[in-house]
Amino acid sequence: MLSKPCQAYQTILVEYLLNPSENCLYQACKLSTHLAHAGIGPDEIIEIHLRSLESVFQQTHPLKTPGLVLQSFNFLLEVMITYGLSHHEYLEKKTQEIQEMAQKLEKVQRKNEELDRQALELKVIAQISRILMEDHFDIPEALTQVIQAMQPLFINANLGMVLPNSRIIIKLIHDEITVIDYNAEAVQINLAYKDLTIFKKMEGSNALYQPLLQSDYNSAIWIPILNNNHEITWALVVESEDTMRMSEDMARFLGVLRDLLVTFYKRNSLVQQLSIQATIDELTGLYNYRHFSRLLELEIERALRYDRPLSLLVLDIDHFKILNDSRGHLVGDLGLKQIATIMRKNLRDCDILCRYGGDEFVVILPETNLHRAMATAERLRSKIEQEKIEFTERWNSHMEKIQLTVSIGIATLNEEPDNAYDLLKQADQALYQAKKAGRNQVYCARKAN
Ligand code: GH3
Ligand code: MG
Repeated sequence: MLSKPCQAYQTILVEYLLNPSENCLYQACKLSTHLAHAGIGPDEIIEIHLRSLESVFQQTHPLKTPGLVLQSFNFLLEVMITYGLSHHEYLEKKTQEIQEMAQKLEKVQRKNEELDRQALELKVIAQISRILMEDHFDIPEALTQVIQAMQPLFINANLGMVLPNSRIIIKLIHDEITVIDYNAEAVQINLAYKDLTIFKKMEGSNALYQPLLQSDYNSAIWIPILNNNHEITWALVVESEDTMRMSEDMARFLGVLRDLLVTFYKRNSLVQQLSIQATIDELTGLYNYRHFSRLLELEIERALRYDRPLSLLVLDIDHFKILNDSRGHLVGDLGLKQIATIMRKNLRDCDILCRYGGDEFVVILPETNLHRAMATAERLRSKIEQEKIEFTERWNSHMEKIQLTVSIGIATLNEEPDNAYDLLKQADQALYQAKKAGRNQVYCARKAN
């Protein structure tokens, strides 16, 4: 079965051989243009021609054959001339199409690369979000994980995190995490930049940016994370030997990253604040009972393990109820605060001060034997006795002074008591004795050797 163009060719050729006319040639040229535009090659046209000729020969006398062959060559020549012209046009058009396609392909490739990078950015952002959503007690550890997650996006660069408050710089170079010396002078200069900035290396000592991770950098990106007071809490640093460019993509990525870190910082500060609130007595600022119990267990465990002395004081304000009843609760609160302040001033930093509840306080004295605990308790008692609470009566605006005293019970860790419950019980019994003996006194559960 002949194809449609073959059939058309054959029809025109037969007509031409039987009755050569300009019109046939014209029809043939039109067909050849059509064939060229359809992308049919010259070999195929010659083949169509020969096949058409063959079928003509089957229908005519053999003696006529040579004449017809010559005549057909004339036909083929005309067809091929038009074909050549059209084919040239066709080729030009095809070349143009190919060029356009190559350009489109290049565009698609560029778009693909862009999409690949965006996909990677999203992956990195998702990973960093996951890291920052977890509860972190160790901030440097969390930030180390963040720069590790960022690494696939900055293959030829070194990444680091500056923590001005902890005075450390975490550095990630060739997959190696190191904590390096805090270059105070350099960090100080860079801390002036509170915005995301990209620096290019400048020769000379008055360069704007001071390198923190590598001396042979050519460009650096500085991403500061600000706290609520607009101070730099942390700063992310990218340093590279290549000249980095702040593309739109890069700026968007770093912006999102910075927002994530700011949110993480705020959440963390809130958690810290809440945990402080959970351990502190609001009125006096001393540890509360709950936290005291935890600390006492820890201190006893430590003292027993290393065979170190430990003492406990229990203080109770004398006749505090009378002050409350006669002057009101606000003056009573003032008295509680004043006693807390005197205790803080007259004890060591390592001593642990707590408000036990009501008008009662406890002090854990690490590394303190009974003898020294008695001296400490006596010093506290006498300081409290000496200080007066000063306050103004609301109705007559007169300045009033009131003296408070405390009774103190002491217990020291030994073979017995060797646990928090018994130690507290003994100190309480000593306090009871001090109260019974007339108040404003120090009593201990055991005699000092
Ligand atoms: P004592 O010498 O036997 O200790 O007599 P006291 O009057 O101090 O008796 P007690 O220790 O039992 O009384 C404690 C009082 O402390 C009772 C309560 O009204 C008062 N108090 C407890 N908590 C607070 C507080 O937060 N603020 C004030 N203003 N008073 C408090
Ligand atoms: Mg009391």
